[in-house]
Amino acid sequence: MKPGSLAENITQVREKIEAAARRSGRDGTDIVLVAVTKGVPLEGIEEAHALGLSLFGENRIQEAATKVSALPPPIQWHMIGHLQTNKVPDAVRMFQMLQSVDSIRLAEKIDEECAKLDRTMPVLLEVNIAGEVQKYGFKPEEVYAAVDAAGGLPRLKIMGLMGMAPNNPEQSPRREAFKKLKNIFSVLRSLKRNNVEMKYLSMGMSGDFEIAIEEGSNMVRIGTALFR
Ligand SMILES: *Cc1c(COP(=O)(O)O)cnc(C)c1O
Repeated sequence: MKPGSLAENITQVREKIEAAARRSGRDGTDIVLVAVTKGVPLEGIEEAHALGLSLFGENRIQEAATKVSALPPPIQWHMIGHLQTNKVPDAVRMFQMLQSVDSIRLAEKIDEECAKLDRTMPVLLEVNIAGEVQKYGFKPEEVYAAVDAAGGLPRLKIMGLMGMAPNNPEQSPRREAFKKLKNIFSVLRSLKRNNVEMKYLSMGMSGDFEIAIEEGSNMVRIGTALFR
């Protein structure tokens, strides 16, 4: 494999995922890899698919639209960026999962659009574990009420939580943020609620996915480390 090639990057990321999973008493196959393709041209995504990746994440509807139509199912697409309510009609047609549900208003709009299509939508609730005002998401103390409210929407299937660590060069604040989200996830997982199946804890990006996995993540969203 050529050093720095996509093939080599994929191999390296997979090895790191495997090693981090083992450190947390799990297996690499327990961790879902979402390849984040924002800014990556279609050819790059096709190459990644040819190399075995089949789950991609995008953060903008407009950029995702052409990619999703060029690479339809069984290839899977997750929305990972802030979603405006006026883009929901497009989003529910394009994505297999919306990871970035950050308000009840948005959840209600998704429910409404899915009713029109007679489908249900798997979603994750985004939690602002970084505590940074510029980041989206429910506050940690709001999540329980948010799960209750969103769980009452029949077209939504709440499948977990998503979060981003603070933009901090230090490891320890990131680790603390991941621990916090894992705790919330564990509590929610132990409660039984309609339309809620706490399966995915989506945390960890190129700079911190190994720490995130050590702290319990089972879904990582990785862009730069693959497509740099
Ligand atoms: C861009 C992005 C990622 C991937 O970030 P990298 O640092 O490139 O791995 C993950 N999650 C979200 C929400 C993003 O917007």
